[in-house]
Amino acid sequence: MKLTFLGTGAAEGIPSPFCDCSTCEHARVHGGRNIRKRQSVLINDHLLVDLGPDIFASCAQLGISLCQVDRLLVTHSHSDHFDPSNLMLRAKTFRLETELPEMTVVAGPSVWTIWDASGGSDQQAGIKRVPILPGRAVQLGAYSVRSFAATHHSRIGDAMNYVIQDETATLLYASDSGVYAEEIWRELEVQRVELDAVVLEGTIWTRPPGKEHLNEGDFQLMLERLREIGAVTDSTVVIATHFSHQGSAPYEELAQRVKKLGGVCAYDGFEVSFGRE
Ligand SMILES: [Zn+2]
Ligand SMILES: [Zn+2]
Ligand SMILES: [Zn+2]
Repeated sequence: MKLTFLGTGAAEGIPSPFCDCSTCEHARVHGGRNIRKRQSVLINDHLLVDLGPDIFASCAQLGISLCQVDRLLVTHSHSDHFDPSNLMLRAKTFRLETELPEMTVVAGPSVWTIWDASGGSDQQAGIKRVPILPGRAVQLGAYSVRSFAATHHSRIGDAMNYVIQDETATLLYASDSGVYAEEIWRELEVQRVELDAVVLEGTIWTRPPGKEHLNEGDFQLMLERLREIGAVTDSTVVIATHFSHQGSAPYEELAQRVKKLGGVCAYDGFEVSFGRE
């Protein structure tokens, strides 16, 4: 399984255009891996997780086309994870010379409510709608996908993390996650999830613990719990991502701190492969 990180920032991105905090100022001066666009991750070049507002900039910068993407998983309806205008770009009128495969879109109720309210048409966008709730499973071609309730966007209640499995690997995509509720740990244990990789949010890394996002300590706690239930082992690839300028640090410093916990710090354009060939 191959992952390509199109963006690795939280809601405002780094640098936020309306912020002069030290992280944003550092990113403006030093650029490179300190710049973080809003998060989307491409799996094996044809399954996209989240469709945020920076899809255009990410793809333009990385030289990536999404023409072959025929599956989209949306974690939740926060605007950094689902921007309906980017789904509308698939309409025929915006790509007269291009034929696209139908795109199966798996998302929770609040995402569909936003899509419908924005005037989006499934037919025009060439999508097949698959509503999902936390605690369900869906087969997407070669991918078995299971959804788990995240401790996130609790006012709405349908934010999800996904365990995504194909014939080569099993991945937990946990952004945005918060610290899981006890019933989620039991569910993961019952499912006997064994992970080749975990993508875990580090949104408020340098800040005190939060209710709906992970700081450094809670990131470590999540990993420890995943180890306890056998989901994470020494061979699991651990990737930290989704950093907020308000809980972040320069890339080099973050990368060191994530490394101490046995993980790698993602950056925009980061590619990683794991599992069997
Ligand atoms: Zn987010
Ligand atoms: Zn800032
Ligand atoms: Zn969110």
